[in-house]
Amino acid sequence: MNSIANFEAMLAGSLNLEEPWYVSGASFDEKELALRIHIGIRKDAAFVCPECGGTTRRFGYEKKERAWRHGDCMFYPVYVHCRRPRVVCPHCGVKQINAPYERKNSRFTLLFEGYAMLIVADMNVAKTAALLRCDEKALTSILRYWVNKAVADMDLEDVAMLAIDETSFKRGHKYVTVVIDAAKRRVIDVEKDRDREAVRRFVETLSAKGGDPQAITHVTSDMSKSYLPAIAKHFPNALNIIDKFHVKKTMLDALDEVRKAEQKEVSDKKALFQGRRLFMIPEGKMTTEQSAKLAELSKRYPKTGRAYRIIAALDDFYESKTMEEARSALDSLYSWMRRCRLKPMKEAAETLKRHREKILNYFQSRLTNAISEGINSLIQAAKRKARGYNTLEGFTAMIYLVAGKLDLAVPHPFGAS
Ligand SMILES: [Zn+2]
Repeated sequence: MNSIANFEAMLAGSLNLEEPWYVSGASFDEKELALRIHIGIRKDAAFVCPECGGTTRRFGYEKKERAWRHGDCMFYPVYVHCRRPRVVCPHCGVKQINAPYERKNSRFTLLFEGYAMLIVADMNVAKTAALLRCDEKALTSILRYWVNKAVADMDLEDVAMLAIDETSFKRGHKYVTVVIDAAKRRVIDVEKDRDREAVRRFVETLSAKGGDPQAITHVTSDMSKSYLPAIAKHFPNALNIIDKFHVKKTMLDALDEVRKAEQKEVSDKKALFQGRRLFMIPEGKMTTEQSAKLAELSKRYPKTGRAYRIIAALDDFYESKTMEEARSALDSLYSWMRRCRLKPMKEAAETLKRHREKILNYFQSRLTNAISEGINSLIQAAKRKARGYNTLEGFTAMIYLVAGKLDLAVPHPFGAS
């Protein structure tokens, strides 16, 4: 057997201790059921001034011993105890020296915080706090600190393609604007509200982090009256593309209205109601069984069936190989929708017409809002995780954490990244 000295080295390693810091003792507190590690500092060690980096002389220790919560050991909570040294700097006066395992003003060790950041990215705050046996407020402040630091350090210099979208929080009562770097598929900004001001604030952030609004080449967005003029104003060199998922959503909403209206008209409404989700599935993605069922429903409910075929034509439009093909497909879709005698579809046709050029811009770059695909599901998960502390700040921090591809400067407990 090796000696217990290995254990001491492990403790020191987990605390990032180097000379002149050392583990002076460890004991099991039977009353509190916790492991207590005591840290000492060599008496003759010199420290540079934490303020100016100059030479100092030692000036005793802080008055009261402090304790930091560290990672558990054999499921017992571990506390690190230390009276940290103080120094006198000829320029800065008396200064407190921080321990190598701490972040200023935190009651947790860096390793604990690194572990907490790993867990909180996968679990909600309340569960993480229960698992780690720390309070939610403390956990939230750890989360905010590391996320805010990484967000502040984000470099947006080479950002050229944006996706701008909105997402709701607080059960749909409030909205935020989420900006995505489409090339790197990461969230680079979250702004409150979904208006022109949100876009303007993003432009400020972009410029402050090395980006250039003039260098933005592509922006995908929805058809909102707030975003479109702001995009045109702030990104004069960008191709604005209406995101295809938003176009599809407008059409699916219209289909749903057609279906509801038809349900009111017919006596046999049950089958239509039961089959309503079937009409949301693209033709090519159905099983043979589903296709047969849909064909039957379309016969029984011809209006909803017609609306479904219009959606299929929209899918075909997006399959166009060239801009010419796309133009003519969109025009025939539009005239079909105008003549289809389904009011919601006629209204949707006007929306398509109003945004015709921006919809067609898709065929110049084939960019879509990544947010509508992978990132959106991450954001939905962030919403669930942020539920414990339903504030804008908490929600924002969670979005960045799960979808920002942040470079967190916190140590990783397993040495990996
Ligand atoms: Zn100094």
